Amino acid sequence: MLFDVNSIAKSFATPKGPLNVLKDINFNVESGESVAIVGRSGSGKSTLLGLLCGLERADMGKMVFDGEDYSTLSEDALTRLRANKIGMIFQQFHLLSHLKAYENVALPLELKGDSNAKETAIELLGEVGLAARIDHFPAQLSGGEQQRVAIARAMAIKPKLILADEPSGSLDESTGEEIMSLLFKMVKDHKTSLLIVTHSQTLAKRCDRILTMENGVLV
Ligand code: ADP
Ligand code: MG
Repeated sequence: MLFDVNSIAKSFATPKGPLNVLKDINFNVESGESVAIVGRSGSGKSTLLGLLCGLERADMGKMVFDGEDYSTLSEDALTRLRANKIGMIFQQFHLLSHLKAYENVALPLELKGDSNAKETAIELLGEVGLAARIDHFPAQLSGGEQQRVAIARAMAIKPKLILADEPSGSLDESTGEEIMSLLFKMVKDHKTSLLIVTHSQTLAKRCDRILTMENGVLV
């Protein structure tokens, strides 16, 4: 098992008192598996992804990813785990605007001290169909092209898991489907697990399993 999540809870302090967003989250992800998380806006999906990638700490419960128990890891160790094993894709792409496409993809590799970062980045951009766009800045790319760069960047470290938060949410329907086909192909080719938050039923149905977030619980 790649990811084992048990009895996770998370609340936020607000002026009106604690907001219990995640109450009792239990699920797991197997190696190579794709899992969709659906649920209405505000149900806590992004909050859950923040815990899974180690950017936020859970209040309670146990998360074990690739044999590592998050509760025993320091902030530095969590950052290292994320940098080495988890790729992230967001609705708004989150590319760095002052870096060219290939520099965006190379960055996570450079941060790990990979001396082949540039070559690997260019190869990955070829895989996502952007060989002719490697020197473009994000503002010089369409939305679909920016998401291709973001997919290449997420794959660069050869992650064990990709976490995607509404990755087709800001693309038109046909571009979204095309980019998501690409994402599924990439994770299959690289034997990567995929956990994807989406509003699209079509996209959710392409995954091996669908989980629904409801009242702070995944069903
Ligand atoms: P989703 O991704 O499912 O739309 P979120 O996880 O973004 O939902 O948010 C779940 C709920 O938690 C929302 O009601 C949101 O307003 C609230 N929330 C998220 N982050 C914070 C925070 N840092 N402080 C207070 N409330 C938050
Ligand atoms: Mg969200």
